[in-house]
Amino acid sequence: MTATARHAVVIGGGICGLATSHRLARAGMRVTLLEGSDQLGGLGTFFPWRDRWVERFYHCVMPTDDNLLGLLGELGLRDAIRWRPTRMGMIVDGAHHPFNSALDLLRFRPLGPLDRIRFGAISLLLRRLGKGRDLDTTRTEDWLRGLYGDKVWEDLLAPMFGSKFGPSFGNVPALYLWQRLGRERNVATRGYPEGGYKSLIDGLRTSIESHGGTVRTSVPVRQVSAEGDRARITLADNEILEADHLVSTVSLPLLRGLADADLAARLPGLRLPYQGVVNALFFLRRPLTGHYWTPVLRSGTDFDGVIEMSELAGVEAYGGRHLVYAMRYTDRESALYREDGDAIAARWAGQLVDLYAGIGLTAEDIEDVQVFKAPFVEPVYPLGFLTHQPPIEVAETPLLLATTAHVYPEVTSWNSSVGLANRVAGILTNA
Ligand SMILES: Cc1cc2nc3c(=O)[nH]c(=O)nc-3n(C[C@H](O)[C@H](O)[C@H](O)COP(=O)(O)OP(=O)(O)OC[C@H]3O[C@@H](n4cnc5c(N)ncnc54)[C@H](O)[C@@H]3O)c2cc1C
Repeated sequence: MTATARHAVVIGGGICGLATSHRLARAGMRVTLLEGSDQLGGLGTFFPWRDRWVERFYHCVMPTDDNLLGLLGELGLRDAIRWRPTRMGMIVDGAHHPFNSALDLLRFRPLGPLDRIRFGAISLLLRRLGKGRDLDTTRTEDWLRGLYGDKVWEDLLAPMFGSKFGPSFGNVPALYLWQRLGRERNVATRGYPEGGYKSLIDGLRTSIESHGGTVRTSVPVRQVSAEGDRARITLADNEILEADHLVSTVSLPLLRGLADADLAARLPGLRLPYQGVVNALFFLRRPLTGHYWTPVLRSGTDFDGVIEMSELAGVEAYGGRHLVYAMRYTDRESALYREDGDAIAARWAGQLVDLYAGIGLTAEDIEDVQVFKAPFVEPVYPLGFLTHQPPIEVAETPLLLATTAHVYPEVTSWNSSVGLANRVAGILTNA
């Protein structure tokens, strides 16, 4: 059978499914991309706000995102990324601090003078200190507590990075953080696509279709099974598709719910906990402090970070308003995740006003609040995950897995998803 005759079905129209489908269609394979919701983009998707489209979750491109930038180059969209210098702040115990330069650190009152110097020196050396070490089997807490000392770990690092993985952050492999520091080493410069992420998503769809692929939305997959070397995909309306290859980009817990008993028994046995996220978008009549990213520590808020998106994307994208995201990563079973979005919007708006009262923010400055949640953002990685990581190919089945669990130790991002898509397409096209 030739590559051109083979049919691949890709489940999930997030960046991983889009990039995989783009690669396979370009290689001449027959591709059908199935997205359950009525929109493509997955976690990078958007919603209509007034007469424009706005991302539900804050997103930016890093200068080190080589896989993503390579893909955008192929689509003719690389020049659509607008790069800007961005700044970081830190709010600790309600007090605001800039956090960008050596001078900022020397003036950073939450730490004593010696810890400030130690923090700066270790942070500069951290990438080098991790080289050649087995950080995959080293607990983040053990590594960072040892290097920075108890005070910095407990007062700053545990709450700051722990917000991503919850209370078990200290147990996550130190390798994850080390990789993250690598991705964000050029942290001052960030990119945002002209026309928003929708322009990238539209570009991918156009490319897939122009290479003969089929992109379908509002088609939730209800069941998948494998019969010999063929895959059988049943959609919610009972339509059945058959394929030579099935690529699933949906998270492993979701896929387990879709697989029939026979296929489920062949899936990786590892049960990973996943973090979800709650995001509130504040459309403001005025700017805040000019810091793109501000971790919020022990300041009486339910959210633990603030992203001043307009510092990167400008205000034109939001009809002259300043867009600010507030976020909290949390388990999908938590009380916060289950809470009604309107209640979260009202409470977080009050907390935002209190947090920025010092610069004169009032409730009247908030024109609109929108709340979005996502149940599966990324797994909470266990120690030694490199050896337990599920393989992409599910043995003796036509199924390939391309999920956020497969990008480890890279940070979950559009860039790492595109890298994973490249690997999956490489397997299927024998590139
Ligand atoms: C708050 C937040 C901020 C982030 N910031 C950044 C950032 O600044 N830069 C960056 O690069 N990345 C960022 N990310 C990470 C990035 O969004 C993800 O890593 C990436 O989008 C994952 O893509 P994916 O295709 O693997 O999964 P997803 O985007 O989750 O896509 C999976 C798709 O599968 C679909 N699906 C599920 N079930 C079914 C079914 N039964 N049938 C059919 N379809 C189904 C879903 O609807 C979804 O569209 C952020 C994520 C979050 C949540």
